[in-house]
Amino acid sequence: MGVPAEARVHILIRCPQCGGTIDFLEEARVIHCRFCGTDLLVAGREGVLRYVISPLVGEERRARLLAVEHLLKSGKHSPRTGEAFLFYAPFWRMQGTVYRWVFGLKPLKVQVEAGVPPPMERFKVLLVRAMDHTIPGYSGLDLGLGSLGVRPQVLRLRPFSPEHLEKRNSFLPLEFSLEEAQADAEHYADYFFQAEKLIPEVTLQKIVGLRFSVIYFPLWYVDCSHEGGREILLLDAVGRSPVQTIPDGSSLLSKLKGNETRKSFRFSELRFLPFRCPNCGWAFPFQPLSILHFCPTCRHLFREKGGEWAELAYSVIPSPEAPQPTNSLWVPFWRCRTRLESRGKGVENMADLYRLAPPPRVVDGKRESRRPIYFYVPAVKFRNPKTIHSLGSRLTFVQPDLDLGSFEDGSHPLTVGGSLGKRAG
Ligand SMILES: [Zn+2]
Ligand SMILES: [Zn+2]
Repeated sequence: MGVPAEARVHILIRCPQCGGTIDFLEEARVIHCRFCGTDLLVAGREGVLRYVISPLVGEERRARLLAVEHLLKSGKHSPRTGEAFLFYAPFWRMQGTVYRWVFGLKPLKVQVEAGVPPPMERFKVLLVRAMDHTIPGYSGLDLGLGSLGVRPQVLRLRPFSPEHLEKRNSFLPLEFSLEEAQADAEHYADYFFQAEKLIPEVTLQKIVGLRFSVIYFPLWYVDCSHEGGREILLLDAVGRSPVQTIPDGSSLLSKLKGNETRKSFRFSELRFLPFRCPNCGWAFPFQPLSILHFCPTCRHLFREKGGEWAELAYSVIPSPEAPQPTNSLWVPFWRCRTRLESRGKGVENMADLYRLAPPPRVVDGKRESRRPIYFYVPAVKFRNPKTIHSLGSRLTFVQPDLDLGSFEDGSHPLTVGGSLGKRAG
């Protein structure tokens, strides 16, 4: 099962076994060291991680040359450079998937006389959008960078390390709080393209899998003087271009040197677990995008939770025609016991649910009233949200008649949380 093409964010770490550099895609849950051959599970993603983007302009001499070059180009005479140093500015990165249901009216595709409005028909549509935005994490400064744009997606991110902590004074303090970033995420989730002629009546929106990280971006501070005066030039240490000119660098310097604006914040750290079944010690099948791992030897299912392996219960729905198929394609679903509320009334069992959403078949009300509501949500990524929706709703409404079993020899579930790619269509 391949990695989807849009997954391009790379993370660089040192292999905890041999020290070799491992370059892996951000989405990867399991990584492989090509130096020592170890497979590792990536843990510690529940919290806020912080990353550093390495400068491409690393030498002070080179930064000064770039500054002088820029000053000459902008018509300044006899430019000279004074103090020059590299520093890092924090940015909040917010990622998630936004789903939006739109219910409303749209014009019918029929011929109408000029000047007569077309008749309208009701429609419902499920829209989906991947969200990946960065916003400044510092405040009170204009560094000329409103966001990092697509930079995090094309550059290598390194986890913030003790070596970075030693150079604390090179890092601008994170002053924009997580709460503020969360409020901004809601705002960014609202950007959707919508066809003009649609008249939405009800929209329901949810950000799924929202996570935050902090990315430190490198900039050069170059104190410049020329015949016309003095200015501070800020250079993008990756793009090699000037991003801002400020008349005075004192507020930037005091933020870097001072401690008063440094609030303590609990960051999470990436950790790595041996990729072996904690029950029997056998190596798990290498499925880099999967969040659950099925041991083919002892048939137990595991996930990472708080930096440790945790077992997860599962059941299978065998095919009624062939109870022990060996070449079936198994699709995992999350099963969630659900209790709903509608107009202040509890919706507790399938009979209640069928009253709200009548099925196109006769149901035995008495029998359904004894059945709890389970929502079935596909645990694989499908490109098309309609596929997720129709699979989920179909199983939610037919499952009460199904018998649950367990995996027989030779059966193996699909990657959970992975992508079905072409198969999903
Ligand atoms: Zn290694
Ligand atoms: Zn096992």
